[in-house]
Amino acid sequence: MKKGKQIYEGKAKKIYETDDKSLYIQEFKDDATAFDATKRGTIKEKGVVNNKISTIMFKLLEQKGVKTHFVKLLSDREMLVKRLHIVPVEVTIRNVVAGGMAKMLGLKEGIKLKEPVLEYHYKNDALHDPLFNEYHIRALDLATDKELGIIKDYSFKVNEVMKDFFSAKGLDLIDFKLEFGRHEGEILLGDEISPDTCRLWDRNTQKKMDKDRFRRDLGQIEETYQEVLRRVED
Ligand code: 5GP
Repeated sequence: MKKGKQIYEGKAKKIYETDDKSLYIQEFKDDATAFDATKRGTIKEKGVVNNKISTIMFKLLEQKGVKTHFVKLLSDREMLVKRLHIVPVEVTIRNVVAGGMAKMLGLKEGIKLKEPVLEYHYKNDALHDPLFNEYHIRALDLATDKELGIIKDYSFKVNEVMKDFFSAKGLDLIDFKLEFGRHEGEILLGDEISPDTCRLWDRNTQKKMDKDRFRRDLGQIEETYQEVLRRVED
């Protein structure tokens, strides 16, 4: 697969064209940003870790019936993916109160939710990815009813699969963010699944094992990413 022109550079990844119009190469960087890129840094080998963890998660999810953009792992930092027209909606699923939900509702982090909460956020950094709802999405024609149905079903399925998977590794899945896109008329799960996009707390110690270590200056950032990879690969 020939790597072509870079067509996009985001905060944590670059996307390249290939000699096949329907496929892209997704390359994972070590760059880390938080709070809409007002905090910037590097997490050594994060790109390698996130590429490997995302690969494992996408393969597992495909086995469980969730269609994803993943095609195959190409190298330490690169995966081959199906070209997507991204739906500008970020889906968050929460099992435990943390981060944005704690702040928005004035709640303490760590409260277990009676059932998972699904949130939609409008994908727009300049506006800080504001929370919105299905009516906004439909009225603005960002996705059809049918597409939203698939996005919702996939999101809850991802939660069930990942909760069990991480639980077996001694990690509690607190919350995570997903992005979806269209490929030849079909909704596929895109982006990445990694400690950058999931909150994971150690089952026994409740230690934060995710990007909050960077966001909140908690230290042991590289070691923690490596530890999550070690457990995921185990
Ligand atoms: P919150 O809304 O609490 O900030 O984030 C909820 C979950 O989604 C967390 O696991 C967080 O890592 C993930 N998340 C939400 N928005 C973003 C984003 O723009 N970038 C990344 N990497 N993760 C996000």
